[in-house]
Amino acid sequence: MDYISTRGQAPALPFDEVLLTGLARDGGLYLPGTWPRFSPEEIRGFARLSYPALAERVLAPFVEGVIPGPRFAEILEVAYAGFGHAAVAPLRQLDRRLWLQELFHGPTLAFKDYALQVVGRLFDEVLAARSRDHKITIVGATSGDTGSAAIEACRDRERIEVFILHPKGRVSEVQRRQMTTVASANVHNLAIEGSFDDCQDLVKAMFNDPAFREETALAGVNSINCARILGQIVYYFAAAAALGAAERRLSFAVPTGNFGNVYAGYAARRMGLPIERLIVASNVNDILTRFFESGAMVTDEVRATCSPSMDIQISSNFERLLYDLLGQDGRAVAETMTRFRASGRFELDRAAWQAALALFSGYRLDDAGTLAAIEGIHRTTGELLDPHSAIGVAAAEAQLDALEGPVVALATAHPAKFPDAVERATGVRPQLPPRLADLYEREERLQVLPNDLAAVQEAVRRTRDLRGAA
Ligand SMILES: *Cc1c(COP(=O)(O)O)cnc(C)c1O
Repeated sequence: MDYISTRGQAPALPFDEVLLTGLARDGGLYLPGTWPRFSPEEIRGFARLSYPALAERVLAPFVEGVIPGPRFAEILEVAYAGFGHAAVAPLRQLDRRLWLQELFHGPTLAFKDYALQVVGRLFDEVLAARSRDHKITIVGATSGDTGSAAIEACRDRERIEVFILHPKGRVSEVQRRQMTTVASANVHNLAIEGSFDDCQDLVKAMFNDPAFREETALAGVNSINCARILGQIVYYFAAAAALGAAERRLSFAVPTGNFGNVYAGYAARRMGLPIERLIVASNVNDILTRFFESGAMVTDEVRATCSPSMDIQISSNFERLLYDLLGQDGRAVAETMTRFRASGRFELDRAAWQAALALFSGYRLDDAGTLAAIEGIHRTTGELLDPHSAIGVAAAEAQLDALEGPVVALATAHPAKFPDAVERATGVRPQLPPRLADLYEREERLQVLPNDLAAVQEAVRRTRDLRGAA
């Protein structure tokens, strides 16, 4: 399996290179050259598999030739062994056709663990095949949950230094502490005086600086890294197989920021899953919802909400969908993205926009609506949801009548990651699982930096040098 760039100018790469590369050299994002396809019979059979065994079946084509099958199965088994629920991604029925898929049973209590617990181990695996002194530098931007999931996946790994940029003061206290209280020497938290989009731009700028990239052997953990997307495809198959989807179509409502999770749903559909609709659920940072309403992608100011992991105005992974919407024409994608970068907007022609609408629909909910949704869902079903997950359920409820099959709302975080919002809505303060119970007592470590590329690069270099000398 070779991977190609959405902008068509970077060389195609095998899986191990794509894993370590992150952003393509032409500024694009990597995608599998072809999507493997599963038949309805195969999908029916998936219902009998454990989650790690299902992951092996779904993901094997993507690592073929790079990681031997039995070894890959072992990696997946270990990656999911630490999850707090035997089913790994269990389904709960909320109403006759409405289901919740709980994706918060990993070590950091958000769905990002589902891919990153695998990706961290894959880094080790492909580095082990290289020379002994080959060390990589991971830089990642986080709106809250990627950071802790990446840190948990990469901590104490000998050949990896991890630098996580978060927008200072704009992540929840639990989210911040989950990152800053990790005592591993290879973990470095950078609090940037800016927004998540600024952090993401800094990371992209580091990748787009060839000298820096070379010098530090830069690798990425954001969903610009294709392996992240691949790891997220599995739970769509798990939900569908459990609900008998080989026979009937189903829909997903996905709380969305960077379009990574919902793109994985799109990928699952390309792989044969009969998905009726993908509902893209956002807070007031609704660039995607506005796009589905108008066909125009137009950035706006980022506004802080009670669902901070979706406080994003540039949904990077949309570029992967754009590649298909523009007829897999890399040059057209590059032009469109250049225009977007320069002017903050682009517009699709009617045919491409309609093609997107045939599968996707948008939904938005403001903070008041989100708190009302948390309260309503708690009162009617007993389920305590975090603000992101509540937006997903509200989106599913709003569009249920227009759909034929079951709708699965993805619960992307544990309510205890956002205790203040949940308590405000319901009067109930959700408790952290026992393994995180002393989070508020642990010591924090972070560096505050301005929103400035040179300053961040200097901090990365200096820390690497210090660590190299140690
Ligand atoms: C990251 C995150 C999202 C957004 O996911 P994307 O893949 O960026 O669209 C939604 N909810 C939670 C809790 C998250 O951590």
